[in-house]
Amino acid sequence: MAENNAAIATISKREIVQWDGAVARAAEAKRERDEFIRTILVDGVDYGVIPGSQKKCLYKAGAEKVGDAFNLWPDYIIEKQVEDWDKPLFYYQVRCYLKVRGSDAVVCSGMGSCNSMEAKYRWRDSKRVCPECGAEAIIKGKDAYGGGWLCWKKQGGCGAKFIDEAQEIIGQKTGRVPNPDIYDQVNTILKMAKKRARVAAALDLGLSDQFTQDMEEHVENGTMVVEAKTIEPDPKPPEPVSETAPDPSPSDDTTDYPGEDWEVKNWYGDSIPVYPIGKHRGKAVTQLPEQYIEWGLQNIDNDSAKAMLTKELERRRARDGSM
Ligand SMILES: [Zn+2]
Repeated sequence: MAENNAAIATISKREIVQWDGAVARAAEAKRERDEFIRTILVDGVDYGVIPGSQKKCLYKAGAEKVGDAFNLWPDYIIEKQVEDWDKPLFYYQVRCYLKVRGSDAVVCSGMGSCNSMEAKYRWRDSKRVCPECGAEAIIKGKDAYGGGWLCWKKQGGCGAKFIDEAQEIIGQKTGRVPNPDIYDQVNTILKMAKKRARVAAALDLGLSDQFTQDMEEHVENGTMVVEAKTIEPDPKPPEPVSETAPDPSPSDDTTDYPGEDWEVKNWYGDSIPVYPIGKHRGKAVTQLPEQYIEWGLQNIDNDSAKAMLTKELERRRARDGSM
């Protein structure tokens, strides 16, 4: 038996390990791969760059193209799952096998996970709603204009005004509240785990020195978070949300803005641009709520802030792609 094994090992080694020409083969393979990345993958569609960093993130569309190039198909299995409808907690760990098309032969695999405790599924930013028109457009009126509450037209409101003490306004719960629609998102959470697994599998085809997973999904307040393992034990008290809308005029809003090169670093030390104005001033642009970005693009005059929002929205659109 042992002799047989030794014989087999010797034969396969001789067949497989051929140093003659290895340098040329490796160089050619690398050249072809880099050419593939340059000519087939599209910046902003198949991959994107974290704002302010050099790191490229492979998106799902890019992962699919790479798999297609090698005639591979994805086969998913759920390795672990938690579905606690009472808590509620949903967690999926998925493995994506890339297999040779028309067969079950596995070429490589990648693991991805997602859970409902990730901030973007767990919380909703609850805003005051106008009792007249139902729009989420209630802002605190400036004292100079008599205070009170205003349903702001610029934010899609009806212009109704309310006094400071109006119960129908101040009685509303605001700030970060547990997401009431978590049950609707179970499918999304599973899809996200699959997407992450798919990208991980594609990276395993020899692309991991060129691309990474989309780290933005894993960066919170400038700190690296491995989201799949981050389950907050206790709900944090909701953070108060400023009712005053960001001031569209940058002049009186940039007093303590330290300048263009003010930036935050993520866990990898990459710089992410810091948003310069309004209630989100000082936050990494990757941390801005989507609602705010859409609102800001309509209502903000500050060119550099607007350019930041435009780029960030494009990046998110490309990243989220179709699932
Ligand atoms: Zn209204």
